[in-house]
Amino acid sequence: MSSAIRLTNTLTRQLEPFEPMVPGRVGVYLCGPTVYDLAHLGNARSAVNFDMLHRLLRHDFGVANVAFVRNITDVDDKIIARALETGVSIADLTAGSTQDYLDDLEALCVLSVTNQPRATEYIDEMIAMIQTLIDKGHAYPADDGNVLFHVPSMPDYGQLSRRSQDDIIAGARVEVSSAKRDPSDFVLWKPQKPDEPDHATFDSPWGRGRPGWHIECSAMSKAILGEVFDIHAGGNDLIFPHHENEIAQSRCANETAHMARTWLHNGMLMVEGQKMSKSLGNFFTVRDLLGQGHRGETLRLSLLSGHYRAPLDFTQAKLTEAKNRLDGWYRVWDGVTPADKVPEAVLNAIRDDLNTPQAMAEIDTLRGQSDQLAAAAQFLGLLQLTPDQWFRGGGGAGEGAGTGGDAGLSPNDIDALIAERAEAKKARDFGRADAIRDQLTETGIVLEDGAGGTTWRRA
Ligand SMILES: [Zn+2]
Repeated sequence: MSSAIRLTNTLTRQLEPFEPMVPGRVGVYLCGPTVYDLAHLGNARSAVNFDMLHRLLRHDFGVANVAFVRNITDVDDKIIARALETGVSIADLTAGSTQDYLDDLEALCVLSVTNQPRATEYIDEMIAMIQTLIDKGHAYPADDGNVLFHVPSMPDYGQLSRRSQDDIIAGARVEVSSAKRDPSDFVLWKPQKPDEPDHATFDSPWGRGRPGWHIECSAMSKAILGEVFDIHAGGNDLIFPHHENEIAQSRCANETAHMARTWLHNGMLMVEGQKMSKSLGNFFTVRDLLGQGHRGETLRLSLLSGHYRAPLDFTQAKLTEAKNRLDGWYRVWDGVTPADKVPEAVLNAIRDDLNTPQAMAEIDTLRGQSDQLAAAAQFLGLLQLTPDQWFRGGGGAGEGAGTGGDAGLSPNDIDALIAERAEAKKARDFGRADAIRDQLTETGIVLEDGAGGTTWRRA
């Protein structure tokens, strides 16, 4: 049976039919978090977007035939710095941070992965791969204790990011080593620094130290998925240098034409039109938003409301819209048994390069068929509560307080919908404007359009 899935491969810049290397079985590697801090919205976006890939592959190939690996980076400069700064042990910091991350993903209805390798469990595999790279002439131990990958040893380095030589050198400059043979060379193993504790470092043929970040993913993906596997995914900020360097290490060590055959990257996350940053005061963790009373499902729907490859502008208006949409779906569903099969139109939207906005538009048309709507929304990882739990609050999935109430929409919700309807009319999207009026009518809200705008009353 041929797969109906099409994915945009960053390596070729093409939308391609997806066929697994071994028919019927799929291996995926997704770069996971460095565990020293709470997950922010950008981390959440990558996890939620590629959870949709995981759900689709499980649906089409069967749960037992999908290996979905997401690593935990638990050895890193930032971890050591945070541990030294807070006085918390590295073991406690990484264990606590990992649990926080998994709790947040659970609130966002992200499925558990099949493998969650921790970098510190694969140090031997990393050392072995570095030794192979040295033996094959692609790496060298430098005088300053670093082991470096020699980029000019790989003639077709740079295929994924298609960077210029100048960009490559600028990117490699962050990895300071005075002993580089070429300015683009990057670090595979770094020596222990004087202020670093012994338990953050490991013995190696090149002295005590620790692996560079890139080699972690090359070694762990090989150990679990093999030298070449189907899909490698991550945020587009990882294309260069992280993924480019993973490819260089894996292909040169294993002597293969590919590391992964398909590379998928999600777009950036903005907040209210700006890059999310601590200095701009618009930096949100998943915990912040759950603490403000937003439910995990509302955040999830917001993160899936744009196409995964496009930049996503995360706004207050989008959150309100997501909550209203979920209110509408929960009201239509009303707890009947979901249909056995996910409606084809929704499946096909996801098979078409994970087109979640299209899938949601299809779900909106299922208002007359509550069992179909429930099956479709649950396939997207939504409608995970009962309608009663959703409207009355409680029942997990984000723990945020439900503000809907069983009597219907709150005044704030109604005002937000009226504002959205006005925008839709202005944009001449009369279908959407009418749909909002219908949604309000269903819940007993009467709109009155007048010269001064739209007012409302309960029927
Ligand atoms: Zn990685």
